[in-house]
Amino acid sequence: MSINWYPGHMVKAKKEIQENLKLVDIVAMLLDARAPFSCRNSDLEKICQHKKLLVVLNKMDLASPEATRLYSARLREEGLMAVAIDSTSSKGLPDVIQALKTLYQPAAAEMVQKGRRIRAARVMVVGVPNIGKSTFLNCLVGKKMAQTGAKPGITRGKQWVRVREDIELMDTPGLMWPKVEGEEQGLKLALLNIVGENAYEEYEVALYLLKILQEKAPEVLLNKLRVNDAGQSLEELLDEIARQRGHLLKAGALDLGKTCTSLLNDFRKGKLGHLSLD
Ligand code: GDP
Repeated sequence: MSINWYPGHMVKAKKEIQENLKLVDIVAMLLDARAPFSCRNSDLEKICQHKKLLVVLNKMDLASPEATRLYSARLREEGLMAVAIDSTSSKGLPDVIQALKTLYQPAAAEMVQKGRRIRAARVMVVGVPNIGKSTFLNCLVGKKMAQTGAKPGITRGKQWVRVREDIELMDTPGLMWPKVEGEEQGLKLALLNIVGENAYEEYEVALYLLKILQEKAPEVLLNKLRVNDAGQSLEELLDEIARQRGHLLKAGALDLGKTCTSLLNDFRKGKLGHLSLD
């Protein structure tokens, strides 16, 4: 599957992150807990290498808990600090706060040593489209949304939102593009709704979802999607689900487009269970 990217957008996004990086102590990089390795961008990580980096596995409520533990361990093996969160319910928020404090600790200790007052840690959130950046910001800030106001001279329009006494967030998250290196990664990103719908064929992505279900969760095909035989071809599975759902065109033919759209929506809302893809 080929994805249409706009190189201009990527260059602009990278430049913007590079600029804002100068203003922060910590970068919180949001990845989808269901496929963190597919949402990464090694270029971005390189740019951030002189900053403290926190990997946040967002949408953990939609992922397989076992896979999330495994992915976190793999990231830690790389030397990265990784925490998981469900930003819609704030489950995992204390871990995020604790991780931010731990990452800032050496800098805070240095300020104390130099006899300076410890200022709040400044954090920038970055992530690919639809990963949950706004939801995560709101989750961190809670109802307070107390803005500390623009700081003349350095922020030039950037607003800092106080999360707590010792943590401030840049109110505009950094948009990053995933580095797509193979067909399967493109399919995963489409399935996770990270690439815009104009960039892919829903039919192809729906068949990929059925393949994943066949391999990892045939019981979902049988029990939730109520097919008779989970082992039939992907095209046959799609036809059967279309019939099950009554997706018919006027002439009586199957409306497969409608079935593909509804299957993708079901996956994205977690209606097909906790599925991880990486
Ligand atoms: P952004 O484009 O990165 O700012 O993403 P948004 O914050 O707009 O979130 C995109 C979609 O993901 C929205 O429908 C959110 O409700 C949903 N979302 C964000 N975080 C979570 C999460 O932790 N769990 C679940 N289930 N959905 C989430």
